[in-house]
Amino acid sequence: MSQISKHVYRFFIEEAIEGFGLMHAGGTNIYFVGDPAEDMVLVDTGEHYRDWTQGILKYYEQLGSPKVSAILITHGHGDHIGGSDRLQEAMNCPVRCHPSLAPRLEKMLGSDVVEKFRSRELIRTGGGATLRALFTPGHEIDHTCFYLAQDKVMFTGDTVLGGSSSSVRDLSSYMRSLQLLASFQVDKVFPAHGKLIENGADYIKHYIDHRQQREKQIVTALSAGHTEVYAIVDEVYPKNLRTGLKEAAARNVRTHLYKLVVEGVVRQTEAEYSLI
Ligand SMILES: [Zn+2]
Repeated sequence: MSQISKHVYRFFIEEAIEGFGLMHAGGTNIYFVGDPAEDMVLVDTGEHYRDWTQGILKYYEQLGSPKVSAILITHGHGDHIGGSDRLQEAMNCPVRCHPSLAPRLEKMLGSDVVEKFRSRELIRTGGGATLRALFTPGHEIDHTCFYLAQDKVMFTGDTVLGGSSSSVRDLSSYMRSLQLLASFQVDKVFPAHGKLIENGADYIKHYIDHRQQREKQIVTALSAGHTEVYAIVDEVYPKNLRTGLKEAAARNVRTHLYKLVVEGVVRQTEAEYSLI
């Protein structure tokens, strides 16, 4: 069994590059936490593909089909809640999530099945393991991370990924969420996608430093008189980026600029239009 720490078992879903590999860079991790001889919780349910759900169920059988006291959802993206209907049926347990996600899951699964997390709630599972639910908006408003104190493990969902940087919807919230994660003693980061991270505290710090560095570069480009997104991209990123990467860079610059606008550091003026 792929036991990866005292209380954590991992089911890994690899993807062919030509298939969905670009959607889930580095593959997808589904975690069972607790003690298979007592009870466990499941973290995320993957995509709504038959193969994925059957794979998770087969792995669950290999664990001895333990009692699962809850399915915990990190956030509402399709590759995290996809199999929740069939897995909930098989495991006959509540599906738990951030309050913002609850209405949508209730529609999918029925309101008697869905239970909301409370902020900082302690979730108990087998083997004396406890998971602290941490509301961590940024990648998505309904994102929750889980801290397993006994193993010093942080389950980061899509907030911190194993090998690539996360896409961010709201950077101000995201930076606060990273600071929250950094305030725990983290030996290992177990992300929803990509490889497992051994030196978790350093890795989270690197994520924070990287974004702060980027913000400084953008402020420098602005103060040098570059006022357009693509002009800032050219200043801050390596020259000759491929088209796809350039678009991603522009999105990232816009995310930073939006944060700076909200913080009152940058002023945004509308583009002007007039008839010829
Ligand atoms: Zn996501």
